[in-house]
Parts: sequence; structure tokens; C-alpha cells
Amino acid sequence: MKRRTFIRTSTAAAITTVVAPQFVQGQRRADLVLRGATVFDGTGAPGREVDVGVSGDAISQIGPDLPSASLEVDVRGLALAPGFIDIHSHADLSLLVNRNAESRIRQGVTLEVVGQDGGSIGPWSDAQFEAIRDRYRGRGVEIDFRDPASFIDRIDRERPAVNVASMVGNGALRGLVVGSEDRPATADELARMKRLLRDQIERGCVGLSSGLEYTPSGFADAAELVELASVLRGTGYPYASHMRNEDDRLLGAVEEALHVGRMARVPIQISHLKAQGRRNYWKADAALDLIERARADGVDVHFDRYPYTAYATGLSNLFPSSYRAGGSEAFLARLRDPESAARLERACRDKVALLGDWNSVQITSTNDGTAWARGRLMGDLARQRSIDPYELTVQLLEANGGSVGMIGHGMSEENTAKILAHPLGMLCSDGGSYAPYGPLSMGSPHPRGYGSFPRLLGHYVRDIGALTLESAIHKVTQMPARKLRLPGRGVIEVGAAADLVAFDPSTVADQATFESPHQYPLGIPLVVVNGVVTIRDGEQTGDLAGRGVRGRPAG
Ligand SMILES: [Zn+2]
Repeated sequence: MKRRTFIRTSTAAAITTVVAPQFVQGQRRADLVLRGATVFDGTGAPGREVDVGVSGDAISQIGPDLPSASLEVDVRGLALAPGFIDIHSHADLSLLVNRNAESRIRQGVTLEVVGQDGGSIGPWSDAQFEAIRDRYRGRGVEIDFRDPASFIDRIDRERPAVNVASMVGNGALRGLVVGSEDRPATADELARMKRLLRDQIERGCVGLSSGLEYTPSGFADAAELVELASVLRGTGYPYASHMRNEDDRLLGAVEEALHVGRMARVPIQISHLKAQGRRNYWKADAALDLIERARADGVDVHFDRYPYTAYATGLSNLFPSSYRAGGSEAFLARLRDPESAARLERACRDKVALLGDWNSVQITSTNDGTAWARGRLMGDLARQRSIDPYELTVQLLEANGGSVGMIGHGMSEENTAKILAHPLGMLCSDGGSYAPYGPLSMGSPHPRGYGSFPRLLGHYVRDIGALTLESAIHKVTQMPARKLRLPGRGVIEVGAAADLVAFDPSTVADQATFESPHQYPLGIPLVVVNGVVTIRDGEQTGDLAGRGVRGRPAG
């Protein structure tokens, strides 16, 4: 790649329309030609200057000086890559609330892999389905599906801005079959969960996810997870795990994830690998060591990570999952019950001390009655309101039925760069879909929903040189496509899906911050989804072409 070609300020991808005959010297004209970019094909190879032609929804030609097409885009001076794949996305139902998926598509993301952390879109019971249907009717969305495979079918009809594939969550399966109790599944229940999982996989879902710090997902022990994950054996789809612990017991949790994959004989994807709390920073190296050794033994293991040193979760996650058994009401009762209150308080204060102090906890979402807490640091807020921060935590949880969003500041930048740059590491956002207007503009979400992919390319590649541009692109294109068995995605080659993103390596940058998250990134002027120009000159064209994406199992 010629560095100087990127120095030129190039924020616009100029479009010209050419009226021309359909064939040139026997060669079919492409519908769209992207001309003159430095093309990174997703394989990890360095970029080369060629034109890329698109016919219909597929890449049809790659080469120098392609014949003119009905639509031409001059992308000289820009990098052109396969559309980015977010291997751990929480966009899910918000893609139906706002089909434009602004915070996602403007990052260059063209494929969301949802159903993460054990929490897929069903399968739901009648009661769960009705509750969710009623809630979404209030937001103008009619829910007519009750499992992840049917959600993917709905995406085909809905055509949001982005493509969507889904995992099946063990928490969803457990919630339906076992309920919210902390007890082992019976043999019959396990058999039923396996049948449901097999059915979803046969209908195109791309793996099993768990979120073992959450309920009810975490009520599954390792033996149950092995049994459930064994449904994936032979398909090539991974078991993706938000592990049981990411701080003091991180290494045991990594061993559990590896054990499940080994025993079930399935690939493993460790979700958002991290070592939380200063006293645990050294464990990032130890975790990578465990993973590398498993890899050397032939275990197909990878991991992903979002490019920030703070995480986002529920405020109730400051308490161990065993205290949250039986649902929100039972948890809230335990907070005030003289039998248990002191133990819960101790556990919560320990977790906060692990992160640093109360200002390591930032409130993101609340109901309107406690809107004053949104975006605020707990330490500052408690001081201002002259209340003990633990008491304030309990009050917020009570006022919100246990459902308060938080961001926890407690990871190291050095580890974040190391994990992202590691040859087995991929990028994820772990974020949702938002927009700076309308229903998805509420609250103060983690900025990763807007900034993860440009932050990798800007901060980690260009500014601190943690990894090369071609390696970063590989981690968000071909690598996840292979892990999830999505043929024809994540590469620029003839016949592949025409999901493409053009960006300027010299200016690409995230803008979303923890203080002000609802901000689009810079330096990504063009995004094409299934052959349709969705972002042009950095703005949405209004043409939406996302589809449901199904995996192709091995064998
Ligand atoms: Zn997670």
C-alpha cells in the first residue's frame, strides 16, 4: 500500500451514473464499479489497487481498469474491505425498532451475529412471547416469531440496513424448559433443550451461546453445557461463552470454557476476553497462555474483545448470580432481608473495590423516575445526594424493578491491545444498535455500539500501531465468517456477497464517548450491503438491503 495515497484528504466517495450498453466486448457490464481503492480482501493479505465490480448482490469482477458500469464510485485514496462482521452483537430486536441501524452501518458493519451471552430471541413460551409482543407493540413493532431461526426469517422480510445471523442462547433454552430456578436440569429437560437447539441449528442458527454470569444461563453447570454443546458436534459451529467469571476466578472460567469445547468436541469462541480489576491484570497473559496451549493440543479456540477498557452490564451484576436466583423480585427481597442483606452488601462492596471505587460504576439506563442517575458516576452521585453509595445502589435497583444499566471501568489498555492483536483474537462490539434520534437515542449506552470498528482501525491500528491494517481487517471479516461457517461472506472475491466498506485509514475514528455516546464515527464514506449502496458520502441513502444469514454446517 502506498502510504501517500491515504494522506490525501478523501472523505467523499463521488458517485457518477453512466448510461452505457450492457455488454462490452462480450463481457457483461457490472451494475456497480468501485474504482481505484486499495483493496484488502479480508484474507490478511496487504492491500492492492484494483477495481471491484458488483452485479446484483454479488462481487462479479476484480481487476484493473474494469469496464464502466451503470453506477460508478470513485474510491481512490480509500481502503476497500469486505463489510465488517460483528461476531458478538446485541443489536437483536432493536433492528426492528429502527431498520436503519445507524450506529451499526455507519461503522461499516454489514453483518450482526446476535443471540449472544445465552440470551437469544427465544425460543419463548406462550407467556414470554405474549409479554414481549405486548412490550414491542408499544414501540410500533409487531413480533410474529418466537425463536431465533424465525427471527432470522423475519429479517429476510424486514430488510434492515444490516445482515443478521443468530446463535441460540442456553439461557433462553433453560428459561423456557427449566425456568428461573437455580437447580440442575433433569434428564428429560436436558433432552428437550437439546431437541430445541438441534431444530434451531438445522434452521440456520450458527452456534450455542452462554452467559454464565447471568441468570438463568449460569445455573447450567459444566456437565450440562457439555451435553448441550454436543448437539453442535460435526457441524463446525462454535460454543460461544461469556464465561462464568472475568475477574478473580478468570483462569478457572477459561478452563471451564476449554473443557466444554474439548468434551463436547466442538469449536470454542470465548466472548469479550478480559481481566477485570487491577489485581487481575496479570491474568490476561495467563489466560492467553491457557488458550494457546489448548490450541497446540488441537482445540479450535478463538476469542473476541471490544476495544474499550470499560464494560457494560446490569447494575444487579455487582452481586453474584446465586443471589439473583428466582428472578428480580426474589433478588430485590434479598437486598432488604435481614437474613441475607449483610452478605449481599459485602459481595457488592467487594466487587466495587475490585473495579477501583464507586466512580468505576457509571449508570447508563434507568426508568424515567430515576432519569437523574443516567450517565452519572455512582461515587459523585452519592456525594451529591448525601447518601451512602451502596444504599443508593439498592434504591436505584428498587425504583427500577432490578433493571438498571451500568458501565464498569476496570480493565487495562495494555491488555486490551494485546488481546485485540493476538493471532487468535477477533473484534466484537458487544454493543446494541442506536441512533441519535427516536426511540434508540434513549439513555447513555456504552460507546462501543457506535465506535468499536472505527476505534480498532483508528486508535489501535493507526494511532498506537498495535496491529497492521490488513490483520485488523482480517479479524473483522474472513476470520469470523470462517468461525461461524458463513461461506461467501467476509472476503472480496468473485462470487462472494457484495458487502463492502470503504474507509480512509488516515482519518477513520470513533467519536462516541462515555459522556456523549450518540455520535457517528468519521472516515467511513461508503458501505454496500448485498450490492446496494447503503451509505454514500458518509450519509444513509435510504436503501436497505440486509438479509437473514444462515450458516452452512460441515459434512
Ligand atoms: Zn457478554
